[in-house]
Amino acid sequence: MKNTDIVRPGAVIGMLGDGQLGKMSVLAGVHLGYKFAVLGPEGRNSPAGQAAWWAESWGEGYSHDGKIEQFAHLVRESGGVVTLEWENVPLELITRLEKLGVVVRPGANVLTAAQDRYFEKRCAAECKIRTANYTLIATHDELRVASLASRFPAILKTRRDGYDGKGQVRVTSSEDLARAWDTLKNVPCVLEEVVNFVSEISVIIARKPAEAGGEHVAIYEPFENRHEKGILRQTTFPAIISTRLQSEAQKAAHRIASHLGLHGLLAIEFFVTEADHVIFNEMAPRPHNSGHVTIESCYVSQFEHHIRAICNLPFKTTRCHTPGKMTNILGDETNQWETFVQYDCTKVHVYGKREVKPGRKMGHFTSLTI
Ligand code: AMP
Repeated sequence: MKNTDIVRPGAVIGMLGDGQLGKMSVLAGVHLGYKFAVLGPEGRNSPAGQAAWWAESWGEGYSHDGKIEQFAHLVRESGGVVTLEWENVPLELITRLEKLGVVVRPGANVLTAAQDRYFEKRCAAECKIRTANYTLIATHDELRVASLASRFPAILKTRRDGYDGKGQVRVTSSEDLARAWDTLKNVPCVLEEVVNFVSEISVIIARKPAEAGGEHVAIYEPFENRHEKGILRQTTFPAIISTRLQSEAQKAAHRIASHLGLHGLLAIEFFVTEADHVIFNEMAPRPHNSGHVTIESCYVSQFEHHIRAICNLPFKTTRCHTPGKMTNILGDETNQWETFVQYDCTKVHVYGKREVKPGRKMGHFTSLTI
């Protein structure tokens, strides 16, 4: 399959990961005529599994007998492609799928960059985008150097596997830092300066290759995000920022997507400084929580652009027709479903997760500014 070939309706798209991002991508792709095979930790009972045509668990250690092979077979024989809704899918699984003859988009190089906070920052620096100052800590010697050379307060983050504020600790002194590194089990970390940001924004870009080494891109206006305890609470779209800052953020996202040769969707989170510039925070090569509002606020959602990108369908407008606010439903707030569902001009999304945990994203609602 050439990387510009169109994936036709009727093909099976393989989705790695089975959470809410997968579910909303499946729903968008079903409208375009694709079938979905979902492979994730929970399989059929997961949010994406409930909406898919085929769903299985990949099993402990990605070893579910025959399921990975069956998944690859369904995708390959139908002329489909594999994509993902979770960027921490192990690279060994991607390689295994590629050996089984399936195309995975976005590719392993994009995942490598996005799975590690240091690689992400290095990628931003290669694209001449500012990051927070940071130091790497992987050994006790590096911890000692960082203790002496760093300014506090700072934030210690594991290089890999952090999400929703997990895998990070705010530290205020050298002693604190040593304790925090122990708490994080002495895994490789980055120690980041605390950025005094005025706001946080994100940009979502879809990119696919064009003939003769060219590219097609679709970039949404920035989203403004408010976090609580490291978890996204509310997104306002479009972000109320200067047109200059909007352009700076969008150009930065475009540079990163082109630099990585992205074939898919990429979300980038930025801090906004008092001087009205962006500082790169992190990125994810998949649909993003801040982009949920595009389902109601835009003609074409981030989920549809994700599917369009990996299937080489033409991109459409990213224009916002009605500004909106997206609020996450976290943990046992999901019990207030009957209240949310009554609001006027509000659309409620319930993900269908079986287990409620504190801070877990159980659903969201979008209110349009009409
Ligand atoms: P992250 O997982 O790195 O996106 O962190 C989650 C949230 O913690 C961010 O969206 C910020 O609100 C906050 N945060 C993370 N890193 C920093 C930093 N270096 N300075 C200030 N706030 C931060």
